[in-house]
Amino acid sequence: MKRKRALVTGGAGFLGSHLCDRLLQDGNDVICVDNLFTGSKDNIRHLLGNPYFEFIRHDVTQPIFVECDQIYNLACPASPKWYQKDPIFTFKTSVWGAMNCLGLAKRTGARVLQASTSEIYGDPEVHPQPEEYRGCVNTIGIRSCYDEGKRAAETLFFDYHRKHNVDIKVMRIFNTYGPKMDIGDGRVVSNFIVQALRGEDITIYGDGSQTRSFCYVDDLIEGMVRLMNSRDGFTGPVNIGNPGEFTIKELAEIVIDLTGTKSKIIYEELPSDDPMQRKPIIDLAKKELDWEPHIMLREGLEKTIRYFETVL
Ligand code: NAD
Ligand code: UDP
Repeated sequence: MKRKRALVTGGAGFLGSHLCDRLLQDGNDVICVDNLFTGSKDNIRHLLGNPYFEFIRHDVTQPIFVECDQIYNLACPASPKWYQKDPIFTFKTSVWGAMNCLGLAKRTGARVLQASTSEIYGDPEVHPQPEEYRGCVNTIGIRSCYDEGKRAAETLFFDYHRKHNVDIKVMRIFNTYGPKMDIGDGRVVSNFIVQALRGEDITIYGDGSQTRSFCYVDDLIEGMVRLMNSRDGFTGPVNIGNPGEFTIKELAEIVIDLTGTKSKIIYEELPSDDPMQRKPIIDLAKKELDWEPHIMLREGLEKTIRYFETVL
């Protein structure tokens, strides 16, 4: 196989750093671009001496000029806690970041993959969610900077494809978890595990009846690489996630069981616009990518707990 030059924006983040590992293992040249807003050099420290790996500290809201064959656009804070810190910058990152990646793809002829999200479905009235569902998003709420930014990015991807024939792949990622999530990330899986291991209260927002479908990171990265290398003309959007659906209360109980913690569950206010349900239909991924997840929740949580035990 010819060595490909892959550019990974957001490559020092949770998913991005796993992707860099995988692309190097597959024999590619990897250029990791990140402004280290939520990412960390620690996630890629083990790669810094590798001659096939380069790190560029760069903000994707600014254009970048490099030569590459494939672009994975992952740069964007993904946790509500972090994307709401500077919502205007989150929106710029999604929209200008997408535009800059697409401009680069147009010039170089590179294939470009967008890390889109189940958030484009908002608080869905259709359950489970197929790719055809157009979503129910509040345009003016506290999650809109992320949701609408990602929706606008999808629009740009398809307009560059139609107008300039850019080779695009759009992936709608459902909640993904695993090693290398940041301790202070604020998403539910890392929060619950860190709280349980520290013996702190486990914070359920709302009554815990809202659901999510959790995908283990290795399954997700496999789906991402398969989508990038999928047949010409297949653009997506395609859902990648684990259809196993759990209430947040069930998740808390499983984490308590697996860690054996004495932590108690406490209930806090539900943030506004928090989606009530989430579950992907993955028929398209099965058909086009021959992909489905293999690591179920308890197994994935055990691996993630072992990781956080070493970090804490
Ligand atoms: P993360 O916060 O760990 O990683 C995001 C990375 O992007 C970080 O390294 C951050 O420093 C970098 N970044 C942010 N703004 C940037 C900018 N302006 N310029 C350059 N770099 C910037 O989050 P993650 O979970 O790894 O998510 C990666 C991508 O996948 C995001 O685009 C996210 O929207 C998408 N996604 C993730 C999930 C999930 O459950 N993990 C779900 C849906 C979509
Ligand atoms: N959540 C929670 N306690 C926490 C963190 C999150 O109950 O400490 C809830 C949150 O309100 C949401 C679900 O868990 O209903 C998933 O939250 P996360 O931030 O992980 O992802 P998203 O809401 O973007 O799917």
